[in-house]
Amino acid sequence: MLPFDSHVHTYYSPCARGVDQSTNPVASPQRYFQRAEEIGLRAMIFTDHFVEDPTLPGLVLFYKSSGKAILRDLRLELERLSDTQVCDVFIGCETETLSTEWVGVSEATARELDFVLVPTTHYHLPGVPQPASMAPRDVAAHMLLMLESVVQKPWLDSVAHPFSEPETVIGDLRAIYDAMDKARLRDVLGLAARNGVALEVNGSSLTAPNYAAIYREIVALAKSLGVRFTYGSDAHDSANLGMTQAAEAWIADSGLTPEDFLTPQMLRAKRG
Ligand SMILES: [Zn+2]
Ligand SMILES: [Zn+2]
Repeated sequence: MLPFDSHVHTYYSPCARGVDQSTNPVASPQRYFQRAEEIGLRAMIFTDHFVEDPTLPGLVLFYKSSGKAILRDLRLELERLSDTQVCDVFIGCETETLSTEWVGVSEATARELDFVLVPTTHYHLPGVPQPASMAPRDVAAHMLLMLESVVQKPWLDSVAHPFSEPETVIGDLRAIYDAMDKARLRDVLGLAARNGVALEVNGSSLTAPNYAAIYREIVALAKSLGVRFTYGSDAHDSANLGMTQAAEAWIADSGLTPEDFLTPQMLRAKRG
């Protein structure tokens, strides 16, 4: 349905260093090129976990091996592979919301990238801003607070897997959604629409049943308010590149059409 994938981790992400039975890395750019050819993908955006200054004392530990070096290395590696490139390849990142005022990428650095994807619910990472408690009302309020902090920055492109986090961390997502202030949700989504910050449809998150049901309702509201969307598999292994049949069915059920999605080319064009 959508011949692109805008959320792909290579082995420049610390959590994408898996190997196959022959100990070859499963998330090398080369493997992604092979898989893209197999499934007929036309474009992909590499979005490794990235904050631009990993030297800041007290920074979330997960990002300590991040920084501009990984983007430079990925670029160099892609240049070396340019003969084998089978589809359009873009370089973006998945950064982090470090506080309501601070995301891991500055506006100037964002301009050097094709795409900046910002998660707001990485509650499993120690040091990332947390709700006051894991009571549904507190989680709901915190999710909206962090989402609002991102969509008020028009230079950010899309929110990664909005409202998604394992229920082993946050508890029952249905209870959280029931406790959510819906007027405030509408306001935040309206702000996203006005500022041109998209919401991601994340193929990996949709495999959680509660999430799939709740996010369908949120997406319908967002679309009615003029929000645009990006699609990403969130692959950490080339085998998971692209769109699954389940994700395709979910998108069709949710009333989204291909025109609701920003393509990698459109995201790059935003840079002017
Ligand atoms: Zn993420
Ligand atoms: Zn990711």
